[in-house]
Amino acid sequence: MSFDTTAKSVVAKARRLVIKVGSSLVTNDGRGVDIAAVERWAEQIAVLHAQGRQIVLVSSGAIAQGMARLGWTTRPHTMHELQAAAAVGQMGIVQAYETAFDRHDIRTAQILLTHEDLADRKRYLNARSTIYTLLSLGVVPIVNENDTVVTDEIRLGDNDTLGALVTNLIEANSLIILTDQAGLYSADPRKNPEARFIAIARSSDPELETMAGGAGSAIGTGGMLTKVLAARRAANSGGNTIIASGHEPNVLLRLAAGERVGTELRALVPVRSARKRWLANHLRLHGRITLDDGAINALTQGHKSLLAIGVVAVDGDFDRGDVVACVDQHGVECGRGLINYSASDTRRIMRQPSNRIAEILGSMSDQELMHRDNMVFMRRAATAGATANDAEPPLSIDLE
Ligand code: GLU
Repeated sequence: MSFDTTAKSVVAKARRLVIKVGSSLVTNDGRGVDIAAVERWAEQIAVLHAQGRQIVLVSSGAIAQGMARLGWTTRPHTMHELQAAAAVGQMGIVQAYETAFDRHDIRTAQILLTHEDLADRKRYLNARSTIYTLLSLGVVPIVNENDTVVTDEIRLGDNDTLGALVTNLIEANSLIILTDQAGLYSADPRKNPEARFIAIARSSDPELETMAGGAGSAIGTGGMLTKVLAARRAANSGGNTIIASGHEPNVLLRLAAGERVGTELRALVPVRSARKRWLANHLRLHGRITLDDGAINALTQGHKSLLAIGVVAVDGDFDRGDVVACVDQHGVECGRGLINYSASDTRRIMRQPSNRIAEILGSMSDQELMHRDNMVFMRRAATAGATANDAEPPLSIDLE
């Protein structure tokens, strides 16, 4: 597909924006909060605000700033030291934003999220309505991962992913990822002089992943790859992603005026419903069930619900109502959904017709193991017959 590179930036029309700034920008490559940079963003965001746009800022930098405040020159390795640094550093981060936005008479709010907050349906809905309320009050929410309470196993890990999840949560039109590089290149420009700059592409283009492999900064956790995957995720709610250099003068104002700066990754995939996005955005699941080919066909071609008879194996420990992955016989995830039976009950009723459930378990709550309305399906570019348009973000299915 060719794009009109003279067309205006998609940001020109975006009413609701998520702006993500990385650790190396916020903390001046780890030297401590870059107050001048924060002031420049606040100044630009104040203008966007006055244009009637709603902005959520996702800011990294807590750990880097904590290290600077504590006088640590190398990044600690133990979880409790990283968490301590984040706790110290987050104070500096929010202090800088609060002061900078106050100059423009704009209030800020601190929102610290964990994967669990977004995976639990009630907490997810609460976070969404709180952010909507803040936006309607003209407040700029400053979001970060709640690094102090998360451990390695349950963390979102990088703020590019968090930015995309927030974009999905509030159905923002654009996700602007400001970083220390100009945008995406076809190869790492520091190593390959032939590297071509990508001005515009479809966020679902599978080639982007190959192009993005590797390029990363030493300070933050996300490289280009996490940005490309974030763009795919953002597209699920119709969000276009821009990856641009935070060092570009007036980058936010220029994008909003329609100028093309950085790499624009267009969301050209069908928009999923909010509930289906919530299901798809679980990064860690409690378990998985292996389906036979008949069940996979019934789900993907026949648009049916999942019955116990199609399940051949159960892994993990889950309860009724948990989100569980459905994998094929090679372990590849083909879908996921809310399961109606616990892991132990599923083990007892798998391979059995639904009319035997009551006899086996003593009672039957549901005919289906997963109802179609509570399921999402993965369509991968790598799958034979799938087109690039069908590509979904590869979703991790680590078992807890
Ligand atoms: N949440 C981490 C921090 O604020 C940063 C994660 C990232 O850089 O992607 O330090």
